[in-house]
Amino acid sequence: MKERPTFPARLDFSGGKPVPNRPDTLSSRPLALAPSPPSVRIPLNSEAIGSSSPRSHMVSRLIAQGLSDMAVIAAMRAVERHRFVDSALGNQAYEDTSLPIGLGQTISKPSVVSRMGELLRNGQSGKLGRVLEIGTGCGYQAAVLSHLADEVYSIERLRGLHDKARENLRYFRIANLHLLFGDGMLGYAKGAPYAGIIAAAGGEAVPQAWIDQLAVGGRLVAPVAVSGSGVAKQALMVIDKTAQGVRQTVLEVVNFVPLKSGVA
Ligand code: SAH
Repeated sequence: MKERPTFPARLDFSGGKPVPNRPDTLSSRPLALAPSPPSVRIPLNSEAIGSSSPRSHMVSRLIAQGLSDMAVIAAMRAVERHRFVDSALGNQAYEDTSLPIGLGQTISKPSVVSRMGELLRNGQSGKLGRVLEIGTGCGYQAAVLSHLADEVYSIERLRGLHDKARENLRYFRIANLHLLFGDGMLGYAKGAPYAGIIAAAGGEAVPQAWIDQLAVGGRLVAPVAVSGSGVAKQALMVIDKTAQGVRQTVLEVVNFVPLKSGVA
């Protein structure tokens, strides 16, 4: 796919190095090479520096658990998760745990975000084309996805969280991420067809609209209800759309917030 001009907040995976201007990039340069005018404050916080930061420990743990897709690794290294949770929870931001983000919703666990990103990419070499995320929440996964795809559309049904995500994401200034307020069960037809669709909330089944809006050759990753031993459970489902039809694969048990219809 042809590369569009990049915005400072995007990574260029072709060279494996971040585009200059990101706070991470600035702070990971040798200090002597990055003199700053006295009036400019470079965000040199502990999270942004080198291999001993909590974020880089988080990524090392993910790799130890099996994460191997280099693009996902780079994206997980780049996105500062602590900027998406309340400051009171900041010290837990790099633990592999979901955390409350308000309105009864949660930010997904880093291991789940990276697993879904890896499944969505399916070992491809370049970036994905257009991706749709259902359930923006605080915007964390959307920011991660913005490193993996040319364009990301992320839709949220709760106005309060849609606004919160917008606020959280302002710092990152991500040019290829589009936040939408609406019922994601209907997908977002205007952006279709999508190379990838990812849901951060689980329903009884995958809505037909999502499958319709998936490109041929595209992949959908979503939690869905599965019945096992009489206990209601959710599992991660992968749907590949091919010229011959749709292929479904059910993977591990997961625990996502419910997919609900309508907006609030
Ligand atoms: N992606 C988030 C996870 C947010 S939790 C992260 O980065 O951590 C899942 C979100 O899905 C919730 O905010 C919930 O309100 C939203 N959601 C549930 N049903 C939805 C629907 N039909 N359309 C859009 N968003 C929905």
